[in-house]
Amino acid sequence: MSNNYHPNTKAVRIQTERTGQMEHSTPLYLTSSFTFGSADDMRGAFAEENDDNIYTRFSNPTVQEFIDKICALEGAEDGFAFASGMSAVFGSFMTFLSTGDHILSCASVFGSTHTILTKYLPKWGIDHTYVDVNDVASWEQHIKPNTKMIYLETPTNPGLDIVDLEAVGKLAKKHNIILNVDNCFATPVLQRPIEFGADLVLHSATKWIDGQGRVLGGVVVGKKELIRELYLFCRNTGPSMSPFNAWVLSKSLETLDVRIQRHCDNAEALANRLEGNANINWIKYPFHKSHPAYDIAKKQMSRGGGLLTFELKGGLEAGRKFLDALQLLSMTSNLGDSRSIASHPASTTHSKLSVEEQAAVGITPGLIRISVGLEYIDDIANDILQALDKV
Ligand SMILES: *Cc1c(COP(=O)(O)O)cnc(C)c1O
Repeated sequence: MSNNYHPNTKAVRIQTERTGQMEHSTPLYLTSSFTFGSADDMRGAFAEENDDNIYTRFSNPTVQEFIDKICALEGAEDGFAFASGMSAVFGSFMTFLSTGDHILSCASVFGSTHTILTKYLPKWGIDHTYVDVNDVASWEQHIKPNTKMIYLETPTNPGLDIVDLEAVGKLAKKHNIILNVDNCFATPVLQRPIEFGADLVLHSATKWIDGQGRVLGGVVVGKKELIRELYLFCRNTGPSMSPFNAWVLSKSLETLDVRIQRHCDNAEALANRLEGNANINWIKYPFHKSHPAYDIAKKQMSRGGGLLTFELKGGLEAGRKFLDALQLLSMTSNLGDSRSIASHPASTTHSKLSVEEQAAVGITPGLIRISVGLEYIDDIANDILQALDKV
């Protein structure tokens, strides 16, 4: 496909291979292995003299199509697709970190990423330091001679804090450290971390990329030589994406831009409708002027995304009452769906943390996170407003 096309065109049109049927929609190569015309072809494939597919744990045309589209959207050279977002996170750690290495991570990371950093990596002698997402200037003092990777999410979950990608990109370059960015919340439609110096960008494709709450998936993209190492690690350890999930996710990418734009329209409108509500202390949305890092968000994102948070005046108890009062929004532990979702981190995902630990990652007892869906905006806003009246 011509390189001159816009990334959105590539996300719609990239089609790695056609079968002899000349189908218009993209085919699904649901096969665990591939055959060869001759012993010499097979020898050549294993010797990597050609890029013939061998086995779906290594590569598969449907999976490759999904990877090619993400690379086009992120402006990346190459990538590898995983069975889930967490296998992408874990694969990116295990490929590039060895015993004795140190990782600098922003303090508010996805729950299971936190568990990998604190519980599992130490088993292999890999150490971490958590740094303050809102104070990138302080990160340099935590860099050690053995710091191999900087890891971050922006916007963060569920705090919706913004990390200054340009500043971290410069820091990583200066110290020759791999910068690994979880771009799940923004998607490449809104933010392309490679333009700010990221070496690796990863996603839970389960969220906005699927966008309809159907399949799990993950992907890591970046520089060719890094992805080569990642590929060799993964082709042997086996966290690869299923071709079926790749087919679903590749079709999803055809509509990613239009979906994300509408999620943003709805989230912006909702932020305006909730502002000043008598039952909440504040709202937080990256592109709302009240956001503490509004200027940084404007610099690195094209729009504010589909997530917003607010704090109920009534704290923990009000959080439960609010969820029970909702009639349209779903109560489920996912985000990035066409269906709007409300969650109350203090009583669910983060309930095992102390109040101080919750505060450190931006969670207060009355914090509500809304993943704003694609329903008609008045219906979303009215459901939230009627539930707020009942807390
Ligand atoms: C959900 C999520 C993950 C993990 O992805 P799975 O597909 O659920 O394994 C990682 N990072 C972020 C920011 C997420 O929201």
